[in-house]
Amino acid sequence: MSVATSSVRKGETLIDTAMTLNAMHVDVLVVRHPESGAVKLLADKVNCAVINGGDGSHEHPTQALLDALTIRRRKGELSGLTVAICGDILHSRVARSNIHLLTTMGARVRLVAPRTLIPVAVERLGAEVFYDMNRGLDGVDIIMMLRLQTERMRGNYMPSIREYFHFFGLDYEKLAHANTEALIMHPGPMNRGVEIDSVVADDFGRSVIREQVEMGVAVRMACLELLTRNLPDESSKNA
Ligand code: ASP
Repeated sequence: MSVATSSVRKGETLIDTAMTLNAMHVDVLVVRHPESGAVKLLADKVNCAVINGGDGSHEHPTQALLDALTIRRRKGELSGLTVAICGDILHSRVARSNIHLLTTMGARVRLVAPRTLIPVAVERLGAEVFYDMNRGLDGVDIIMMLRLQTERMRGNYMPSIREYFHFFGLDYEKLAHANTEALIMHPGPMNRGVEIDSVVADDFGRSVIREQVEMGVAVRMACLELLTRNLPDESSKNA
């Protein structure tokens, strides 16, 4: 259901919506919500499985899983790799989920961004912070570029888009600091010429952006399969 046309817009609370959905006896709910923590709140109230499809700037677990699958297919394993996550870390649920997954799997994570786009005390999540792209990309195996989430920004976080691209946009000059075999990733949607140079994004020797989309289908199918595997079959449900 779309929030724009649903009862949520008519003033129903999230918990009332959860109760309504619960009464429909669905098997799985996939929820994307603009508020951080809303999916957890909903999951605590319903009996079925809930997949977080992205909650505010908090988490995006299936994106991290599809990123991990893409990396594993190309590099064999995650352990021992150095991954640079670059750009708007502050507003990125993709960054948070990836930090958790990658550090759990034994990869080293670097966060590369201007000071204004780095969350306070983010090193506590186990990542190293860099404010300079060339240093942050030095010798890395994976480069994950993030979109500037202007829809979540209140105020100015950088002098101009042009300056942002100059210092933090991925172009061949900055890419030259990474490992020669480094993969380029982006969760999409991409802002060409803002966080990534168009030619770099389309460099299919290095860029695995399309493969990420493909792996997204596989990972989400796997999640649905796992969560529905032990459901009682229809005949026993009716019995
Ligand atoms: N598609 C990703 C997300 O939903 C990344 C983005 O929107 O920039 O968070």
